Amino acid sequence: MMIVMQETASDEEIDAVIERIEHAGAIAHPIKGARLTVIGAIGDVEQDVNLESLGLEGQPGVDRVMPILKPYKLASTQIRHGERTVLDIEGRKIGGDNFALIAGPCTVESREQTLQTARVVRDAGVSLLRGGAYKPRTSPYAFQGLGGEGLRLLAEAKAETGLPIVTELMDLRDIDDVLEVADVIQIGARNMQNYPLLSEIGRSGRPALLKRGLSATLDELLMAAEYILKEGNPSVMLCERGVRTFETDHRRTTLDIMAIPILKELTHLPIIVDPSHAAGRRDLVLPLSLAAAAAGADGIIVEVHPNPDVAVCDGPQALLADTFAEFVASVTRTAELAGKALSVA
Ligand code: PEP
Ligand code: MN
Repeated sequence: MMIVMQETASDEEIDAVIERIEHAGAIAHPIKGARLTVIGAIGDVEQDVNLESLGLEGQPGVDRVMPILKPYKLASTQIRHGERTVLDIEGRKIGGDNFALIAGPCTVESREQTLQTARVVRDAGVSLLRGGAYKPRTSPYAFQGLGGEGLRLLAEAKAETGLPIVTELMDLRDIDDVLEVADVIQIGARNMQNYPLLSEIGRSGRPALLKRGLSATLDELLMAAEYILKEGNPSVMLCERGVRTFETDHRRTTLDIMAIPILKELTHLPIIVDPSHAAGRRDLVLPLSLAAAAAGADGIIVEVHPNPDVAVCDGPQALLADTFAEFVASVTRTAELAGKALSVA
């Protein structure tokens, strides 16, 4: 349930409510909005019964107590009273009136390829640099990523360009190494429902980019986000990256554009779109990026390579470094038409 405090509630009154919730064995998540504080009281079904018997309505500073109607609580629009989450990644805002452009290689292949790509995307004005050191590959015989060496190269790219890093964590055993480098931890589509991984990222407090599973419903995506939020980490962005449909002849998956406005209605979390993995084809990345921006996405994440013909992974979908600046200009214009400004430091 959620406890909506009066606009005039004091810190002491808020603390007293939190104490009573915790005394009942539930977890209190105070969310301070611009106007008022809402406290999410999250427990299991049994604790919900305890909470109801607390009589919090009468407590000083409390305006009203309401049930949270959705199965996801902290991710729901309801708990934020219409306010949207805006993340701040080293000065780059994600969410609200901002449009984040996340770009970089699919995978870190070499020092030269990584630094060259990082410079190109920095010069084009992107918000964050992406790049995988640990790669979830369908075939166990395919390149699996450079691992620790890849993380070191990403750190070097950040040191040179100043761009914050988005990189994937696949295995909990690598979390300390990834935390050294990642400003945003990516959770790949294949790990969307890896609940221990989600909980640990929640406990780490590091901002997370959670990708939608290939066959996941929107409610399943939101429940996955809830695992991170529940641990006290509010910095989650969701990523639509295409879902499985019957059409596989001409594209990798189907980009669910409808997910953008629907998720905006269901959750306050920022929505990022990945047209590169959805399409698997370079020529579709621009139209899909424009569609995402027009539909109200809070940003896109795209793959770029200086020489896609020799890319170790996902070459056919990589945008060309040579024309990347034009791509950015087109997407920025569309985002502006949708009322958003490119998010840069
Ligand atoms: C990626 O972004 O590199 C990736 C593998 O994406 P996904 O998990 O969406 O397939
Ligand atoms: Mn890729």
